[in-house]
This record gives sequence, structure tokens and C-alpha cells, in this order.
Amino acid sequence: MRRCNYNKSMGEKFEKFKTKLRSVGEFLFEPHCCIFCRRECDTTNGRRICPRCEELIRYNGEHFCLKCGNRIGLDYEYCVSCQATSYDFDYARSLFLYDEVTAPMILNFKYNGYRDYKKPLAKMLSTYYDTSDIVASVVTSVPMPKKREKQRGYNQAKELALEFCALQNMPYFDFLERTKENVKQATLSAKERRENIRGSFKAINKAALKNKDVLLIDDVLTTGATASECARVMKEAGARSVVVFTLAKTDSNRIGTEA
Ligand SMILES: [Zn+2]
Ligand SMILES: [Zn+2]
Repeated sequence: MRRCNYNKSMGEKFEKFKTKLRSVGEFLFEPHCCIFCRRECDTTNGRRICPRCEELIRYNGEHFCLKCGNRIGLDYEYCVSCQATSYDFDYARSLFLYDEVTAPMILNFKYNGYRDYKKPLAKMLSTYYDTSDIVASVVTSVPMPKKREKQRGYNQAKELALEFCALQNMPYFDFLERTKENVKQATLSAKERRENIRGSFKAINKAALKNKDVLLIDDVLTTGATASECARVMKEAGARSVVVFTLAKTDSNRIGTEA
């Protein structure tokens, strides 16, 4: 038993060490690389996207589902999946589609210690925000299970949100705390995700939340189950509205990440 604990703690330490090492590597060797394909590119404007990836990224253009932000045909207001689902957030907006071009970057940012990606990514979010229909006065992020955050050393959603707030000069608050360690959402169906996540958060800093229009930042929106539960808890605690703002949105019929 003792040996088992020892190994686990060594494993955690090694994970943290690897994350730190990658952060240093990113800081020293890759600041002039495209964050999507990691090839060298002109980064003088702080964007860190090469022309090739710029062409390949499927940005959410002018026509998207008014509820979840998914790209849809010109004749529709809501996507098929939103016609059948109700969410507790008011609406969601995202920058681009989660696909083979954008997924590797998000996975590196999330799991592999590429923490510094927060800077170009927050800049992209901020540019989108300036021209969007989003109404918000305060920013928060989806909290990670404490054990997982300790293991990884950072919560990418919070890192992104703080960087975004610095650019937009908006206040940031932690409004949610994780109360349950859940089964990883990635392996579950949409219905199972909603059941699995229910009761996993509690509201904190309630005084600052009262009557506020909250911007909830996360990396990927998949089925919306986690974001919806976060919104439900914040609204119950007094928030006036909750808008979900993510880097990427999966296609409604393509599930494979955590959110
Ligand atoms: Zn590229
Ligand atoms: Zn939709």
C-alpha cells in the first residue's frame, strides 16, 4: 500500500516536471512558431498563425446557431442539436471549429504544458469579442477538478480568461468551485454528460455575482453539458445572464473532448 502511494506521488511529480520542462521549451524555442502547426512563422503582430493554417482554420463566420454558436446553413437560426436541447446559459460563441487543424493546438495548450499559448489565444478571443454581439461585464472560467489541476500545474481556461481580462480591462472572479471529481466527460454520451456533471459545482464570491452578465471562458464547447451546469449554478446564485465563450466548438455530431 505504502509503495503504491509512493509511486503515485512520484508519478505526479514527474508529470509536473514534464509540464515545466515543456513550458520552458515553449518559452525558449517556440515563440516564433505557429501555434497550430508549430512551423516557424512571422509573429511580429503577436498572432502566431502561419498563412497556411490561417487558410485551413474553419472560423465561425457570420452565420452561426444563435444558441450554441455552431456554424449552420443560411436558412436556419438554430442548429439541429439546439432545436432538441435546452441549456441554462443564454448563448455560446466560439472562434473556430474543433477539427484536425485546431485540435492539436488545443491539446498542447491543455495537456502538454504549452501554457504560453494563452497570449496569442487571448488576443484572438479579444479581437473576436470586440466585433461580436456578446454582452458581459465580468469574466470567469470553468474550474478543473482540484486533483487534476494540481497534477497539471495550471488550469488552461483560467489562464486564458485572465489574459483576456488584461486585454479587455474587465474584472475576473472565480465564481465556481468544483465539489465533485467526475468521471471524465470525454467517454460519455450527451445525456450521460448532463447526469455526470450535475451537482459538480458550487457558487462562490456570490456578492460579486449578483445581477451580473457573466462571460464564462473555456477552451472547447462540446455538448454544452458542463457549461450549462456552470450557468445554472451561477444563475441560481444571482447572475443575470451567462454567455459561454470558447476557442473552439465541436461539430454537433463529433464528440471527443472534455467540455
Ligand atoms: Zn501553421
Ligand atoms: Zn446550436
